[in-house]
Amino acid sequence: MDSIAHGRDGIAIGWKNPDGSTEMLAADAVVVCAGVASRRFAAMLGDRINIYPVKGYSITAHLDDERSRAAAPTQHLESISVQDRRTPAG
Ligand SMILES: Cc1cc2nc3c(=O)[nH]c(=O)nc-3n(C[C@H](O)[C@H](O)[C@H](O)COP(=O)(O)OP(=O)(O)OC[C@H]3O[C@@H](n4cnc5c(N)ncnc54)[C@H](O)[C@@H]3O)c2cc1C
Repeated sequence: MDSIAHGRDGIAIGWKNPDGSTEMLAADAVVVCAGVASRRFAAMLGDRINIYPVKGYSITAHLDDERSRAAAPTQHLESISVQDRRTPAG
């Protein structure tokens, strides 16, 4: 999909085929679910979807005793220590 716009017959969705030809489809409604491309397509319809990529890592560590569980952070970490390593998380 390359373009999406309000048209006379609803919403016009346009795309280019591998052979270079273009096609258009008219729809009554669309669901924008194009991942990080959603922002661009929503903008074509005059909407603002604040979707953007972020980078993060996560790990799973055994927290066998109550003291470890109580001390474990639960959200938005910048880094976490596991044994002798520090691993980014978020
Ligand atoms: C390496 C990696 C690991 C991840 N691990 C996890 C995890 O462990 N747990 C977790 O919860 N999340 C994880 N995520 C995040 C998760 O994959 C995304 O949050 C989720 O897939 C977003 O879903 P979505 O349907 O919004 O978008 P997407 O899954 O990105 O789907 C968007 C779709 O739109 C299509 N599209 C885009 N542009 C166009 C276009 N112009 N024309 C036609 N189609 C188009 C794409 O081809 C795709 O099929 C991970 C992501 C990555 C990259």
